[in-house]
Amino acid sequence: MTDLRRRVPRTDAVLADPRLAEAERILGRSTVKSAVAAAQRRARAGEIPPEEVVAAAVAALPATAASLRPVINATGVLVHTNLGRAPLSRAAREAVAAAAGACDVEFDLASGERARRGRGALAALAEAVPEAAAVHVVNNNAAALLLCALALAGDGGEIVVSRGEMVEIGDGFRLPDLLTGAGAVLREVGTTNRTTVDDYAAAVTTRTAFVLRVHPSNFRITGFTSAPETAELAGLGVPLVVDVGSGQLTPDPLLPREPDVTSALRSGAALVTASGDKLLGGPQCGLLFGAADLVERLRRHPTARALRVDKLTLAALEATLRGPAPPVRARLETPVAELSARAAALATRFRRAGLDARAERSQAAVGGGGAPGVELPSAAVSLPAAFAAPLRASRPVPVVGRVRRSRCLLDLRTVAPAEEEDLAAAVLAAGRHLAPVSVSPVAVDGSA
Ligand SMILES: *Cc1c(COP(=O)(O)O)cnc(C)c1O
Repeated sequence: MTDLRRRVPRTDAVLADPRLAEAERILGRSTVKSAVAAAQRRARAGEIPPEEVVAAAVAALPATAASLRPVINATGVLVHTNLGRAPLSRAAREAVAAAAGACDVEFDLASGERARRGRGALAALAEAVPEAAAVHVVNNNAAALLLCALALAGDGGEIVVSRGEMVEIGDGFRLPDLLTGAGAVLREVGTTNRTTVDDYAAAVTTRTAFVLRVHPSNFRITGFTSAPETAELAGLGVPLVVDVGSGQLTPDPLLPREPDVTSALRSGAALVTASGDKLLGGPQCGLLFGAADLVERLRRHPTARALRVDKLTLAALEATLRGPAPPVRARLETPVAELSARAAALATRFRRAGLDARAERSQAAVGGGGAPGVELPSAAVSLPAAFAAPLRASRPVPVVGRVRRSRCLLDLRTVAPAEEEDLAAAVLAAGRHLAPVSVSPVAVDGSA
């Protein structure tokens, strides 16, 4: 034992290894030292030979200094809140990298003077929605609503809202609490399933700050329902604020029931709010569009400073709006036949490796608070459920699928073609680690 202890290399000797010296440059000294200490402990305990300390430390190192890891989203949920919602386009990623150092976010290089913060992103947003007289960007859609409530109703003013739209966004956060927390008084009208324009009209008084319409983006009420048109609500003599949710700027034939910013403004909304990281496909942010005087009131409210976005967000937003279509768009538009062909090819490849794999039809979803109940036709590779955990643990890129009826489905609607090789490598590696499985008698082309 003492002999083994003596043979375990000293910390400074291990740290001098070029691989660990390089890792120290990327990860910092303390992370590398902890990995070395852990490897030394394993060697002293006899778990690894002393000459493997360096290799064990290298193997245990994280890839980056931050703990967030890229994953392949094979859940079939396009905008998955737990997986960071919209994946950024390459243009947006490059814009983020360009803005990461010192940059002219609030500075005019020609005059050498201070300039309007994020003017490029704001101009892109204004161009994308010409109906908006003014635009503003905050931290997220919840912040956009909070700012509306604070600036327009924060002094106890009333917000008139339908009982059918008092929604919980997720993770226990409820819109009514957000609005009353801002100092506004909620005037609930109508019922869960039916609210008429007369219900709203009867609640409007001199205390009314605005009428609020919230898109029920994460649930659907069907059956005996009714709600007034946006244009009817805009005609009640008080400002109408519309939260469209998913960030669709113009009508989309692929998602005909999803409300959009342009239509809401055309119908007479004074202000429209939306998220940047749902169907728009950009970074997390809250978008505000509307009447110039109202947007200016929001912009000048003291809280606006606490809700403002950073330069990285502004860079990614502008590139999302001006650059090529972001991944969310491309994945929404991929023809199902293409997904089926990809699923069949992968299933064939996995079956040749002896795995119980088949291609299946699947239903993908927008998710993340967008297009509730809308099923996007898709195709998946189906594997035994036992694959789910090793796929999530796979390196370098974890793969997250969904388990349904004892099968692990890898839905290709949310997987980019460029991610397919990593996905295949992860499945084949997981297959080698799992007990051999029997191959079910389906066609080898995966057309089961
Ligand atoms: C998603 C959503 C929100 C919350 O947006 P965040 O950007 O996550 O703050 C609010 N309202 C609606 C209708 C939504 O769909």
